[in-house]
Amino acid sequence: EKEGLYCQGCGVKIQTENKGEIGYAPASALERDVIICQRCFRLKHYNELQAVKLTDDDFLKILNEIGKTDALIVKIVDIFDFNGSWLPGLHRFVGHNKVLLVGNKVDLLPKSVKKTKLIHWMKYSAKELGLKPVDVFLISAAKGDGVRELAHAIDELREGKDVYVVGCTNVGKSTFINRIIKEYSGVEDVITTSQFPGTTLDLIDIPLDDGKSLFDTPGIINHHQMAHYVSEKGLKIISPKKEIKPKVYQLNERQTLFFGGLARFDYISGGRKSFTCYVSNELNIHRTKLEKADQIYEEHKGELLTPPFTDEVQDFPPFVKQEFMIRESKTDIVFHGLGWVTCNEAGSKVVAHVPKGVGVTIRKSLI
Ligand code: GDP
Repeated sequence: EKEGLYCQGCGVKIQTENKGEIGYAPASALERDVIICQRCFRLKHYNELQAVKLTDDDFLKILNEIGKTDALIVKIVDIFDFNGSWLPGLHRFVGHNKVLLVGNKVDLLPKSVKKTKLIHWMKYSAKELGLKPVDVFLISAAKGDGVRELAHAIDELREGKDVYVVGCTNVGKSTFINRIIKEYSGVEDVITTSQFPGTTLDLIDIPLDDGKSLFDTPGIINHHQMAHYVSEKGLKIISPKKEIKPKVYQLNERQTLFFGGLARFDYISGGRKSFTCYVSNELNIHRTKLEKADQIYEEHKGELLTPPFTDEVQDFPPFVKQEFMIRESKTDIVFHGLGWVTCNEAGSKVVAHVPKGVGVTIRKSLI
């Protein structure tokens, strides 16, 4: 084992002895200028994920450490999966530290969405969830929108202290850090980014010009995300890559919408009303009658209703359902990691079905 070599992709300590274990890199890789572990190498060049997992305990340890430091915390959430990527426990760990809240992937939302309104909504929602951020920013780490402004805000708000960037897996934390590094140094893609959850492994230390550091922490795995129940192929379909085109449905009572075979939305009662779906453009929405829905699901999941695909339906968890009363107009029913349905009018009863283990929430509409 080489002393003091760390993977520039995920931050794990490099070792050359044990192939199947974390941090492995072949000896030849150590000759290169940029050293990355084999896992990051594969991910980067072949889009292939080698399974290595950090336990929740390890994440808690890191969060605990952050609570003890004097630092600025930058918390990143995926604006497309706000509730699912929230990290509910964080406010208990931040101690006296300031938290800057960042909504990433703003490029996915329809252009018509007003940024100021969304920021207001984020502040309101954060407060409801027990967190009072010093400020809220919207960015697209992938496109670069808002990153420079955020970098400036971080520099001001940190008041000469260290910075910890936290967020759940898949929120785009690595993409963001890569952007920041590029801003500072012009080095491209030194940190692994990928569509697969759980790929950043250890604290990555990015030195700041006053001797302090910006630390990238491991992404905390969010077990309630849809991403954990679909294959790579399915994940590609449900992860939106560009601006979402909202789809409006005028539903009669007792009509059902299927989102592929991954989730189901039943409109139970309330007269003819309009509903707007915000999901990946690639995900098929199938409308049917409520009384036929069970049978259609049994007969067509994996075929007409995909993902999951034929060979995956056997391992796919059964649906569980949850009923909601829509008391106010513009209320969202959120399927964590998949998207949401905005109930545009008040006064209806709806039922959401999701695979057992995936979160469903109701919220004041984001848009
Ligand atoms: P991490 O697990 O939080 O480090 O997330 P990654 O940086 O690996 O990104 C997870 C996925 O989100 C990848 O597929 C990225 O391409 C994608 N992603 C990251 N930032 C953005 C963004 O600003 N917009 C969009 N549309 N996708 C993004």
